[in-house]
Amino acid sequence: MHRKLLNTLRLRIQIRPEGPLLVKAGGFALDPTIPDMAFVRVRLADGREVPYLPGSSLKGTIRGFVEKILRTWDQPDWRRACATFPDHPESCAYRVMKQEEKDPALPTSEIYRMSCGACRMFGHTRLRGRAAFTDAYPDGELTMETRYGVAISRRTQAVAHGPFEMEVAIAGTFVGHVILENFELWQAALLAHAFEAMNEGMLRVGYGKTRGLGMVRVEVVETMLDVAGLAWNPHSWPSIAGLLDPEACKAYGLDPMEWIPMEVEPDAQISSPFFTRRIYKGHEKWIAISWTLRERALRLPEG
Ligand SMILES: [Zn+2]
Repeated sequence: MHRKLLNTLRLRIQIRPEGPLLVKAGGFALDPTIPDMAFVRVRLADGREVPYLPGSSLKGTIRGFVEKILRTWDQPDWRRACATFPDHPESCAYRVMKQEEKDPALPTSEIYRMSCGACRMFGHTRLRGRAAFTDAYPDGELTMETRYGVAISRRTQAVAHGPFEMEVAIAGTFVGHVILENFELWQAALLAHAFEAMNEGMLRVGYGKTRGLGMVRVEVVETMLDVAGLAWNPHSWPSIAGLLDPEACKAYGLDPMEWIPMEVEPDAQISSPFFTRRIYKGHEKWIAISWTLRERALRLPEG
């Protein structure tokens, strides 16, 4: 499956702070004019240093949410999330490592089949995940502010530390991409669910989630779906299981759902001998796609 690219979903997203947002830079700043907690920055090609949202930070936030959902479902098979930490005996990475000690040529299909829903989507030390998050860079000007925080001692109820300065973004737009490759439809549905949770304020990004920081608005401004081959009806979305032969589906332990109907009209459809590309423009279309995915692709296994 890794040698072929059978389906790809590429979402162009805009993320806007809905209040103070801080994704902390690591390490210590030597420059005394930089706040105690500075926003992480990247140097652009033109030499400017700008705050940005690292893809790893967004991926971590969404992975944590997906793990919670899978634990809430509490299904006996791969739909349960593992213990995540690679050295924990109940993590997928640990189980795969132990299996590889017995069989050093363990195929990817077997590793995928052995892995839980969260690891299938986001990967572990022995498996590349299906979901990738690019860094999100500012589109236009950001409004940054300095806020002051204190840490309160739970024992004395007095200030234990601080005040410290926090550099927060309060307005502006970050733009990035989320990409799913060779994906199962439930993976796209859980991603849609996570974006919805962000927009409801249930899922926050960055530092200080319990201090009221990290509320964001996510909009998917363009949805692009590539499917290998020509034969696909524009009003259906195939899962990877619909694009592989039955033996391969079994070897990977895929969810048997092969496709779902998708009534949302693409704004463009491009066909080449290798793949069909559909492009849906604007957040409204994404919302309709998101509802269909969540309604049809998040069903629990029968029996
Ligand atoms: Zn796992």
